[in-house]
Amino acid sequence: MKTAWDKYPQDKRNVVMDFAEGYKTYLSNSKTEREATKEAIALARMAGFKRLDEYESLKAGDKVYVNNRDKGLCLFVIGKDDITKGMNILGAHIDSPRLDLKQHPLYEDQGLALFDTHYYGGVKKYQWVAHPMSLHGVVIKKDGTKVDLKIGDKDEDPVVGISDLLIHLSADQMKKTGANVVEGEDLNVLVGSIPANGEEKDENVKKYILDLLKEQYGIEEDDFISAEIEVVPSGKARDYGLDRSMVMGYGHDDRICAYTSLMALLDVKELERTACCILADKEEVGSQGATGMQSRFFENAIADIMDKMGVYSELGLRHLLSNSYMLSSDVSAAYDPNYPSVNEMKNTAFFGKGICFNKYTGSRGKGGCNDANPEFIAKLRKVMDDNEVAFQTAELGKVDQGGGGTIAYILANLDMEVIDAGIAVQNMHACYEVASKVDIYEAYRAYMAFIKDMR
Ligand code: MN
Ligand code: MN
Repeated sequence: MKTAWDKYPQDKRNVVMDFAEGYKTYLSNSKTEREATKEAIALARMAGFKRLDEYESLKAGDKVYVNNRDKGLCLFVIGKDDITKGMNILGAHIDSPRLDLKQHPLYEDQGLALFDTHYYGGVKKYQWVAHPMSLHGVVIKKDGTKVDLKIGDKDEDPVVGISDLLIHLSADQMKKTGANVVEGEDLNVLVGSIPANGEEKDENVKKYILDLLKEQYGIEEDDFISAEIEVVPSGKARDYGLDRSMVMGYGHDDRICAYTSLMALLDVKELERTACCILADKEEVGSQGATGMQSRFFENAIADIMDKMGVYSELGLRHLLSNSYMLSSDVSAAYDPNYPSVNEMKNTAFFGKGICFNKYTGSRGKGGCNDANPEFIAKLRKVMDDNEVAFQTAELGKVDQGGGGTIAYILANLDMEVIDAGIAVQNMHACYEVASKVDIYEAYRAYMAFIKDMR
């Protein structure tokens, strides 16, 4: 089987391996959509990007970003062409499956203090127990002060976690189906066991946790009402495989496409067509809300960009959108030798075969999908071949096995040509997902080719 690795014999492999180092750092520092946004802004500013309000006016060559409530981002490199002739857009999402603390999370049960959670996104709940977990998020106090929380990822930090039942007492549990082995309401995070003042009074263990939070972060119990705290797997992204050919980490879905799209935009030189990179929130729960892709935020940002270029009109904005092209990037399912039966082998994504294009996603008869137009795919193939990018095409599993959705249809509904693209992963939505380094690098090269040459 010919793979993209063939393009990088041992003496040329560094470029692939080095790119993955940058990605591992980004992924390790980006456990939430807020952290992914913050890291992306830091990288963008190093590459010369500025906030929209830092520009008096915009012209070709300018690099600008618009921040969506610290949970999403649109970045632009202004091209030389008339912007109403359309943009080349890269889009990915930066939220990942996890467990969110409820608004009244903290309670005590028989001398143990726990946080109650509600899971976010599609998770096999049994995968999220008996793992070291960390707490990441923000608490906004009544006066508006923001407290950043990040506990459980430094070596010296404590970790927290959710217990699983010991095998010795699992006779009943083991008879349950996978969906119910661990129930959603039982995803409670153990955070403490010492009573305040060493006294055996009611809720004294809970009190001690509250005392610690007050002392270390200035947080009161009521402050959880205006907080967003996520329970995520602890630990850094790491090399996977004895040959170090893969990366294992939490949140590949979809920070892997976010990082590669972002880096392509950051590294690009002069452009004819304006290029845009969207990093969106809320994909895992349906893309609704102000920070999801269905929000008007994206159109508003473009209107502001056009305004600063001195070319805003409602009709111009409509033309810009309908003349744009987009790679809507999200992770694809990589062939897994342990579970071959879920695939139809001619239309399956494999590790090492490069970026993956999905004409359609959806489920049960393409339901809910964006079905990319072949005229657009033909142009895209040519750009990939001209730039010697390794790519494959696939669908998510065989017909009626399952399926999934992305943000592709939302942009396509704005009247533009969109195709699903992305990087294949194993263990999708588990605590630790796996991807191939050469696919990561080829995705970056594909995004670069697309924003440079697609017209
Ligand atoms: Mn995804
Ligand atoms: Mn997902």
